Amino acid sequence: MKALHRQQSCELHVHVGGCLYAEDLLELGRDIYTEVDWSLFVNSYEGAFGVRPDPERLFREGLRSARGREVFRQHYVYRQEDGGDFGRFQAKFDLLICLYRYWAQHLHREEEVLWRIVERHRQEGLTYVEYRAMFGLDNPESFLRFHRTNARVFQQACTADFTARYLISIPRGAALAGYELVQRLFAENPELIPAVVGLDFCFFEEGYPPEKLRPFFARLQADNHRRPGQALEVAYHVGEVFFDKSLESAVRWCHQAALLGARRLGHAIALGLDPEVAIGRRPGGHEAEPVSERLAQISYDLEHRRELEAVGVAVDNKALRREQAELQGRCAEEQVCRPYTPQRLEEVRRRQDLVLAELARLGVCIESCPTSNLRIGGVPSPVQHPLWRFLRSEVGLAIGADDPGVFDQSLAAELDWVAAHVGLGKRALAARLGDPRRFRFGQARPS
Ligand SMILES: [Zn+2]
Repeated sequence: MKALHRQQSCELHVHVGGCLYAEDLLELGRDIYTEVDWSLFVNSYEGAFGVRPDPERLFREGLRSARGREVFRQHYVYRQEDGGDFGRFQAKFDLLICLYRYWAQHLHREEEVLWRIVERHRQEGLTYVEYRAMFGLDNPESFLRFHRTNARVFQQACTADFTARYLISIPRGAALAGYELVQRLFAENPELIPAVVGLDFCFFEEGYPPEKLRPFFARLQADNHRRPGQALEVAYHVGEVFFDKSLESAVRWCHQAALLGARRLGHAIALGLDPEVAIGRRPGGHEAEPVSERLAQISYDLEHRRELEAVGVAVDNKALRREQAELQGRCAEEQVCRPYTPQRLEEVRRRQDLVLAELARLGVCIESCPTSNLRIGGVPSPVQHPLWRFLRSEVGLAIGADDPGVFDQSLAAELDWVAAHVGLGKRALAARLGDPRRFRFGQARPS
């Protein structure tokens, strides 16, 4: 058995749509591509890349010749040269959304799309997969139908040697409303409860401080306690794209998500990317943030003063209180700018170590997705990948493929990549990572 077998057969971080490869899209579009409404893709692609694509031509040529297939792939596969930008990634992702919508809304055969995904994973040798997917809340009936279909297929996909589970991604800006709908799904389809083991927060994180989700987490915790048989755990994308704030705030967001109750953090690049590298990514990188974030940081520093000082981060009580009083009179959205000094950068490193140790203590795992971080997470190069820091720490760590189809990279390839770059050897890497199944959701439910 291969050294990394346990890690390569267990996937904890994939988005359903992102599991479709360019070849899958060509197959799914073969007979219908002239019927599909491509406007979402065409507009977002033009907005992100400045070129208006012609999807019908892409399919026609893609189905006809090897050259056409390559051009099709270029419009779908998200590569390094597309350049660390979530909007550009979303534009490519929109191609599959348009196609999926047609299969769901016009053909009513979206299950076939899902089965294709499951079959591929089975063939790759995966034995445990937690899928996650998002759907807007505008129309509750559509939301329920979408997740019901997904959960049902993943439930039916389970066999003696393959287990699929489902996490429902709910919008950060309307978490309680999304959660209510998930509860409705459980009430209407109790048979799906075993398949749905968690909730996920993904998509744009900037502008959505974890702290705002406090009422959601309180409600979830109370419900989980009251009905342990249908308890839900939370996976939370955080510290992935954080140009809107200081590095201290980005580190704090990861910590706060864990303190609020998230059991797994998606990416958490902010905890592993060296501060000097992070600020060098853009002119004036991470120097400015809104008054509201600076105020939240001051409160955090005052509250966690003892832990921070224990790791060598100076917390000047008086100066912080003064700054707090001054900022409280200002508009929350106003930007405050604080340039970095070598000492401050060193303190950010210590904050990162502190939070990594805290996550380890809380048993909170980081889901690190190597390729995704390089291509959309703004990690400038493999040597600067946050993973190396994570591996040197004690934090629980699971490797995920995120959107293997869009990145054209399987989970097995992700782990081979880590093994090739880590300088540890496969056996030592396997020993450090351990079995990722220990982080799977649903274990707290009474059996
Ligand atoms: Zn993700």
